[in-house]
Amino acid sequence: MSGMLFTGYGRPSRTFPKGRVCSEPGCKTKLSIYNESEYCYLHEPMTAPRLRGKKIA
Ligand SMILES: [Zn+2]
Repeated sequence: MSGMLFTGYGRPSRTFPKGRVCSEPGCKTKLSIYNESEYCYLHEPMTAPRLRGKKIA
Protein backbone atom coordinates (compact mmCIF):
# COMPACT_ATOMS: atom_id res chain seq x y z
CA MET A 1 0.00 0.00 0.00
CA SER A 2 1.57 3.23 -1.08
CA GLY A 3 0.35 6.77 -1.14
CA MET A 4 -3.07 7.81 0.09
CA LEU A 5 -1.75 8.23 3.57
CA PHE A 6 -4.08 11.03 4.44
CA THR A 7 -7.31 9.99 2.94
CA GLY A 8 -9.78 12.65 3.82
CA TYR A 9 -7.70 13.84 6.67
CA GLY A 10 -4.87 16.22 7.36
CA ARG A 11 -6.44 18.96 5.31
CA PRO A 12 -7.31 21.72 7.72
CA SER A 13 -10.09 23.80 6.36
CA ARG A 14 -9.95 27.38 7.44
CA THR A 15 -13.04 28.12 9.39
CA PHE A 16 -13.74 30.70 12.03
CA PRO A 17 -15.79 30.78 15.20
CA LYS A 18 -19.51 30.56 14.75
CA GLY A 19 -21.84 33.31 15.81
CA ARG A 20 -19.63 36.25 14.97
CA VAL A 21 -21.25 39.43 13.76
CA CYS A 22 -20.01 42.30 11.67
CA SER A 23 -17.73 44.73 13.51
CA GLU A 24 -19.37 47.71 11.88
CA PRO A 25 -21.22 49.64 14.59
CA GLY A 26 -24.91 48.95 14.33
CA CYS A 27 -24.48 46.13 11.89
CA LYS A 28 -25.69 42.81 13.17
CA THR A 29 -25.01 40.79 10.11
CA LYS A 30 -23.80 37.36 11.04
CA LEU A 31 -20.52 36.33 9.56
CA SER A 32 -19.94 33.05 7.89
CA ILE A 33 -17.48 30.71 9.50
CA TYR A 34 -15.70 30.90 6.18
CA ASN A 35 -15.47 34.67 6.30
CA GLU A 36 -12.05 35.56 7.59
CA SER A 37 -12.99 39.20 7.80
CA GLU A 38 -14.43 40.85 10.85
CA TYR A 39 -16.95 42.56 8.62
CA CYS A 40 -19.86 41.40 6.57
CA TYR A 41 -19.62 41.62 2.83
CA LEU A 42 -21.21 45.06 2.91
CA HIS A 43 -18.66 46.51 5.26
CA GLU A 44 -15.66 44.53 4.21
CA PRO A 45 -12.98 47.24 3.88
CA MET A 46 -10.91 45.27 1.43
CA THR A 47 -13.62 44.49 -1.02
CA ALA A 48 -12.34 44.17 -4.51
CA PRO A 49 -13.39 47.11 -6.62
CA ARG A 50 -16.12 46.37 -9.07
CA LEU A 51 -15.15 46.61 -12.64
CA ARG A 52 -17.86 47.99 -14.79
CA GLY A 53 -19.14 45.55 -17.31
CA LYS A 54 -16.86 42.84 -16.11
CA LYS A 55 -17.61 39.86 -14.03
CA ILE A 56 -15.35 39.03 -11.18
CA ALA A 57 -14.60 35.39 -11.48
ZN1 LIG B 1 -21.73 44.83 8.31
